[in-house]
This record gives sequence, structure tokens and C-alpha cells, in this order.
Amino acid sequence: MPNRPETKKCPFCAEEVQYEAVKCKYCGSMLESGQQQQSQVAKKFIWEKLLSEKLISASAPPKDPAGMAFASVLVPGLGQFILGQIPKGTAMFVAAIMFGLATGGVGYLISSGLAAADAWNIAKKLKEGKRVGQWAFNFGI
Ligand SMILES: [Zn+2]
Repeated sequence: MPNRPETKKCPFCAEEVQYEAVKCKYCGSMLESGQQQQSQVAKKFIWEKLLSEKLISASAPPKDPAGMAFASVLVPGLGQFILGQIPKGTAMFVAAIMFGLATGGVGYLISSGLAAADAWNIAKKLKEGKRVGQWAFNFGI
């Protein structure tokens, strides 16, 4: 691991302890191991990246909301994918498959309904010239 620090500060007594320590030798507090801390930093980074990601705007010419809704009825997330919400569309597709498998297909139908409503609303917003976040959802009908 690059640039791994050798020590860290105990959050309870502020003494420097070994980076991999799970218990502070000064005050006896339980600490997070260095690896746990690193994975938390990585998770935080991913979330910040997701939340601060760029907005998408309409293609030229803008996609038709009805067409996008239809695409997402056929394949949940496809409309979102075409509109530029690529990670979101992919996630919706995977979620619909898993939900469908867990519910004997019913979840897949529910997912395509929700995905269609969402694709319709996102496409409409884009068509109106608004910009939409990569992960923005809009199930309102
Ligand atoms: Zn301590």
C-alpha cells in the first residue's frame, strides 16, 4: 500500500499509536484498524463521487419521453441508459433482475413500471431543457 502512515492518533486520548493498532496502549480504547479506516475512506470517496457527479442534459434532438418509458418497460433501466444515466440504468437493470428472481417475476414487472415512470419524467425534464443528475430519480406521475 502506498504512503501508508506508520502511526495514527487515538481519537480518545490523542496519543500517537501504531497504525495497525486496534487498542490504544495509552488509554485502552478500542480503535479501528488501519484497514477499516482505509475502507471507510474509500467508501466516503465513492459516495462523494456519486453525489458530486456531473449533470446530464438532453441530446440533440431530445429523446421522446414515451419512447424512453417504452424502452424501460421492455428492459428496466434501458430508457435511463439511453438518456445518459448510464450507471443508474445499469443499476436499475441489475436491481430489477434480482428483485424479479426473489419474487418469482413480480418484482421485475414492478421494476419495469417504476423504471418506465422514471424514464418518462427524466426524459421530460431533459426535453424541457433542464439538467438532471446522473443518479436523479423521479417516480412521480
Ligand atoms: Zn488512547
